[in-house]
Amino acid sequence: MPLEEYKKKRDFKQTPEPKASESRKKADTLYFCVQRHDATRLHYDFRLEVGGVLVSWAVPKGPSLDPNRKALAMKVEDHPLDYGSFEGNIPAGNYGAGSVMLWDKGTYEVLDEGTPEVQLARGDFKFYLKGEKLQGSFAIVRMKRSQKGNEWLLIKKKDEFAREEWDIEQLGQSVLTGRTQEEIAQNISKRARKISVKKKPA
Ligand code: MN
Repeated sequence: MPLEEYKKKRDFKQTPEPKASESRKKADTLYFCVQRHDATRLHYDFRLEVGGVLVSWAVPKGPSLDPNRKALAMKVEDHPLDYGSFEGNIPAGNYGAGSVMLWDKGTYEVLDEGTPEVQLARGDFKFYLKGEKLQGSFAIVRMKRSQKGNEWLLIKKKDEFAREEWDIEQLGQSVLTGRTQEEIAQNISKRARKISVKKKPA
């Protein structure tokens, strides 16, 4: 059961994160997303739909469009497909406590020979992202000299979407709600923010 570890780590009476329903939907398009997660340490969670779940990596410095930067990506437990639209706050005391922003989402296409399962098993998965912030061809590659066995590198391939000077922090708003991490953490809705801006005296 690919989601056993996901379930074991969470108390769904306490966390607003999606329950682990295993989706049997067979979509013709494959989903991907990136969540900016302000937990014990700020990181980005990179997730690709494979076999009805979101195969996931925690990327400390986030993905990059710079092909010269290899982003360390620590493989973590598979997440349910529903997690791909999750944004909110995991309460203190729970696994991964902190605010979660849906930083990017979209679809992807498999590049190279072999299914995603086959490419992941060999430790070299090539794919083409069609997100709002991340686009073009990427590879995620298992490190041969991995200490813990879960260290991978997320690498942008050279194409028309590659950007050598690229700063992830300049794209720091939710693709779901337009909110900043602080607004999510304070649970301020976009609507409420507009009202409070209007109320400011001239
Ligand atoms: Mn995380």
